[in-house]
Amino acid sequence: MLVVMKPQATQAQIDAVLEKIRGLGLSPHAIPGAQRVAIGITGNKGALDGGLFVAMPGVADAIRVSQPFKLVSREVKEEDTVIDVGGVPLGGPALVVMAGPCSVESKEQILEAAEGVRAAGARFLRGGAFKPRTSPYEFQGMGEEGLKLLALARERTGLKVVTEVMDPDDLPMCVEYADVLQIGARNMQNFSLLKRLGGAGKPVLLKRGPSATIREWLMAAEYVLAHGNYQVALCERGIRTYETMTRNTLDLNAVPVLKSLTHLPVVVDPSHGIGLRRHVPAMARAGIAAGADAIIVEVHPQPERALSDGQQSLSIPEFAELMGQVRIIAGALGRPLS
Ligand code: PEP
Ligand code: MN
Repeated sequence: MLVVMKPQATQAQIDAVLEKIRGLGLSPHAIPGAQRVAIGITGNKGALDGGLFVAMPGVADAIRVSQPFKLVSREVKEEDTVIDVGGVPLGGPALVVMAGPCSVESKEQILEAAEGVRAAGARFLRGGAFKPRTSPYEFQGMGEEGLKLLALARERTGLKVVTEVMDPDDLPMCVEYADVLQIGARNMQNFSLLKRLGGAGKPVLLKRGPSATIREWLMAAEYVLAHGNYQVALCERGIRTYETMTRNTLDLNAVPVLKSLTHLPVVVDPSHGIGLRRHVPAMARAGIAAGADAIIVEVHPQPERALSDGQQSLSIPEFAELMGQVRIIAGALGRPLS
């Protein structure tokens, strides 16, 4: 249920509604809007009686939320969520570009990648220090050393850092170094990790599970919001289908569908989505055209020597060429590049 307060409702009237919800053993979530405050209620097993709230002073309406996901839904919050990542807005009118290698491999590699993508116009540096590899014999990432190198690259370039957290035990360490915490596709339904992110105090980039429906994905995001962190962006990175010519099937249907169902920012990852370097730019362009708020692209100074995902990584000149096209498409859509 969503309790919508009148635009002129006082803080005391809002507090009274919050108290009443707590008194029923439920959780209130105050959602400030441009015009008025709305209060989402979670924790109820069955339908709540709106009459409990509509008679209270300052209350405009009490609305049942029809979707199983509540706090992430547009029903509960109409306006787009804009995540402020250290001064760079994610989810607003400006299009954001995140780029960098799949894995942090060395100081030279990450600094060269960071400087290259920065010069081409990216605002975020991606790079994994903890890598979820299908095989235990493949490169597993540099761990904390990799996080330190990402922080150094941020210091040198001003780029914001997005990096994956795989294990709840590593969360405090990742929070210390990252600007955005990436939850990988394989961990989308790691509920203990999702709950821990509620108190992380850092924005989260939640990737779509390889076989997750949009509903399951939104429910996973709901875990993070329900545990107190409203700064979540959703990243479409391709799903598993019967197709074998491409690594995954980038589900661009998800972009407009998400934009209508949720207020959270939507990011497209064309690199994991198609998995083939020569086709990544086409899918990056398509993701922006479909309405993504950001793209995240794998870029490596020497893709052929990458320790992970080289086959889908752009070189720095290839990325710079893509950025020229990104500016034109974003401009055609009336979106500046952040
Ligand atoms: C990655 O971003 O390098 C990665 C492992 O992505 P995903 O979780 O989408 O497979
Ligand atoms: Mn990768």
